[in-house]
Amino acid sequence: MRFLRTLSWTAAVTAALLAWPALAEAKVKVVATLPDLATVAREVGGPDVEVTALSVPTQDPHFVDARPSLVLPLNRADLLVLTGLQLEVGWLPNLIVGSRNPRIQTGTPGQLDASTVVPLKGVPTEAISRAQGDIHPGGNPHYMIDPREGARVAKAIADRLGQLDPAHRAGYSARAATLATGAANLAAKEAKRFASLPSARKQVVVYHESMIYLLQWLGVKQIDTLEPKPGIPPSPQHVAMVIVKMKGDHVPVILYEDYRPRNTGALVAEKTNAKLVIVPGGPDFDHGQSYLAYVQDVTNKLFAGLQP
Ligand SMILES: [Zn+2]
Repeated sequence: MRFLRTLSWTAAVTAALLAWPALAEAKVKVVATLPDLATVAREVGGPDVEVTALSVPTQDPHFVDARPSLVLPLNRADLLVLTGLQLEVGWLPNLIVGSRNPRIQTGTPGQLDASTVVPLKGVPTEAISRAQGDIHPGGNPHYMIDPREGARVAKAIADRLGQLDPAHRAGYSARAATLATGAANLAAKEAKRFASLPSARKQVVVYHESMIYLLQWLGVKQIDTLEPKPGIPPSPQHVAMVIVKMKGDHVPVILYEDYRPRNTGALVAEKTNAKLVIVPGGPDFDHGQSYLAYVQDVTNKLFAGLQP
């Protein structure tokens, strides 16, 4: 009897000891809409967070498939990080409603719209709406391709994590500062490298208006987009006009993310002798690629295409 009592007491203590570290080390659950934001959140959060990305780099961020399975991580999330500027408007709002999670609703500390800390480019000068087909009505949402914007977002994520989890605030700030130093170094190094290219080579045509942060950083001129407006597929008339311009200006590169259909780019490349340069649509979050390694991969591929 005494033996049994001792045993049950031991079992109770053991159970408590097993439960204690789990409680003490409960991680902040972060969900990010895109792999770039998820990668930065993982680097800032370090061992104190658990990060889920709702999409992969092979998906167009405007048109992610809102699978019901995406509701589960949102239901458990302490923090949702999104791009904003209506980039996710076609698929995220229903998932947020479906999550039934009061912690991540708009206006709560558990939702961070990263665009609020970015100096925006491409803000329309006159009122436009998605009804007119333009899917960048609030300014250009593709800012994470510039590492200096990534650094701003890292700091915003660190601040928000510090608010939700004050015990680990110092670690969040320190890791965001490390990322910012790396980003500043990479931005300066690449700007210098691209400056060495002859100016006639520093011209591109893009598919979608998604590269302006990258191109302005690197001093590369965007001659045109194959889409007549963001979100409107290329028409034969518009493509014919772009081909004439490209031939006239000897534009050496057509720049694409790898989630886009290649056929129009391949056709234009053939007609103009330009190179079709395909860059990843985001960091390979699932395989642990770092944010800056992704940015470096993009600039390496673009540089190789622009070199004489
Ligand atoms: Zn876009």
